[in-house]
This record gives sequence, structure tokens and C-alpha cells, in this order.
Amino acid sequence: MARMVRQSLVKFDAPLCETIIDTPKPVGREVLVRIERCGLCHSDLHIQDGYADLGGGKKLDTTRGMTLPFTLGHEIAGVVDEVGPDVPNQLIGTKKAVFPWIGCGQCRDCLAGDENLCVKQRFLGVSIDGGFATHVLVPDAKYLLDYDPLPVNQAATLMCSGVTAYGALKRLVDRPRQRNLLLIGLGGVGMMGLSFAQAMFKQPIAVADLSPAARETALKNGAAVAYDPAEPDVAKRMLKESDGGFDGAVDFAGNEKSMAFAVSTVARGGKIVVSGLMGGQFTLPMVQWVYKRMTIEGFMVGTLAEGQELMALARAGKIKPTPMKEEPMADVQKWIEELRAGKVVGRVVLKN
Ligand SMILES: [Zn+2]
Ligand SMILES: [Zn+2]
Repeated sequence: MARMVRQSLVKFDAPLCETIIDTPKPVGREVLVRIERCGLCHSDLHIQDGYADLGGGKKLDTTRGMTLPFTLGHEIAGVVDEVGPDVPNQLIGTKKAVFPWIGCGQCRDCLAGDENLCVKQRFLGVSIDGGFATHVLVPDAKYLLDYDPLPVNQAATLMCSGVTAYGALKRLVDRPRQRNLLLIGLGGVGMMGLSFAQAMFKQPIAVADLSPAARETALKNGAAVAYDPAEPDVAKRMLKESDGGFDGAVDFAGNEKSMAFAVSTVARGGKIVVSGLMGGQFTLPMVQWVYKRMTIEGFMVGTLAEGQELMALARAGKIKPTPMKEEPMADVQKWIEELRAGKVVGRVVLKN
């Protein structure tokens, strides 16, 4: 029997460790994918920790229902190795990106296509074994996407940071006012958001980030203006320069400071989409909320349909690839530590 090698979580809040098991045999509509690349994401760090920061010293236990050893990694692209009896054999040998935000397939949200909302989620690398391995078992062939002619690294990362950035921005499409747009937090997801926003919106795009290097990169990559949230009285200047604030804002950081910043710079009648998960707690005076007629929406990952839309945009050449670097899969723990230390610019993609 064939064997597969995994970089597994064997204990929460501890380094990943190599485990070897028999390669699973796909049944029904399942597909076994031989992994070529898997991107490393901030959420892998949260899962390794076993908690999310709720602010005020409180933690949300995220270990519920997870059995160890567990394989992290959800930004997967590879080659179909084996298929279940209900999947056409022609799929074997084809190159695919894997959509990881898979639901139970039976509940009202899954049946409506909102698998990202499913409470019995089967998210790859989050609730079932994922991509820091030689192989992954995908529950259904429908979650495999063609990515030709895109580079394999771009295909892999599109399904997480990509679909998150795309889905968050989509929640600002068809708003009553479309005069301007603000993107806060230019990490991996935010930088992708900047690239997509130029394909999705006509209005000028402002960005904000504490890092001068990130602001400079954003200006070179299509941002009309870049703000430093740490500059004294910057919100006042932004309200003036934007003629009353921003109609739409995406907070790709998602912490107390970034949300306070978003609230202070959003226009009357504006909307903030929060997709960052840095955590903490956020308070808002009720009257300010009402006076500003403000909408705040939380957003995470995306639907299969959004994954397909985004892949179509990317395959049509409408999306600029973001900076990425390739590293050996066996070094994943080293790169987890670099990412924790804030030393990674762009995306690290692990290679088998
Ligand atoms: Zn991710
Ligand atoms: Zn479901």
C-alpha cells in the first residue's frame, strides 16, 4: 500500500512533526490529490495555537472536535492521483486547485451554496486533514478547479487569501454610493485585495498600513493614495481629502485599532467589511453608529461559486499575481516561526 507523509499537528501550541500513514483510498465522489504546492496562511498559526484571541485576556478554544494528529494547510494545488468509483477516470493526472471551504453538503446553507456558513464544516486543513502533506483526500470532485495557464503557486493561494479578499470586496459592490474605497491592512490578503479591487471597481482606491514598505508597494501596484494610521490626526486629513470619508472600507487586519480607524474614516452611509482575524475586542458608541448610518459586515473565506468566479477572472489575466516565495514542504515549521515573527513579506508557498 502506498504511504503518505504529512507535517502534522501532534500537540496544540507545539511544532509540527512528520507522520506517515497509508494513503487513503477514495470512495464515492472522493478524489485523492497529490499535492504540488500548499500556501502558508496566518490562520494555520491560529489553529496550531488552539485558540483565537477574543480580547481582554479571553481566548476562544478552537480545538473542539479536532483529533490529533491533524494536517494543517488549506491553499492547495496538485495533480489528481486517484478517484472514487463515482468520479470519471479521465480526471486522473489533471492539474487542479482545491477549493477548501467545504460544508456538510446537506444543511440549508450548503444546499443554498453557502458552504462557508455551514456549522458542520469540513474545511480542508481546518476541520479535516489538509495540505501540509504529500496527498490530500478531497470529499468531492466538484471542489477541484482548473487553473491553466496560471502558475501553480497563484492557483493555490487564490483559494484562501484570494477568495477571502475577493468575497470581502464583493460585499461592497452594488452599494448606493461608489465614490471611493479604502483598504486597511496590506498583508497577503490585503495586497491581493488591492489587485482585485482594480479589476472590480472604477473609483480610486486608498490604502492604509503601518508599514512604510507596504505603503510603497501598494502605491507601485495601483493604490491612488496610501495613509499611515499612526500619523497624528490622520483621520481628520483623510476625511478632508476624501470629501467626507470613504463609502466602502475593508478591514483586512481585524483588530481594535484597525476597526477604530475604519469607523473614524468611513463616510456617512458607508460600509465596513471586516475580514481580518487578528482578534481583540471592539466597541462603538451606539449614537455614532446610527448618526453615521454605518453598516458593518463580518466576512470569512468564500463560496465555491466565488472561488470559480475569481478563478475565471485570474485565468482571463485580469488579476496581477502578488509576491510569493517557494520553500520546501519539510521546512514548514521554520516558515511558521518566520511568519509569527512578522518576517515574511508576501506569501510563502510550500513545495513537495
Ligand atoms: Zn488561509
Ligand atoms: Zn452544511
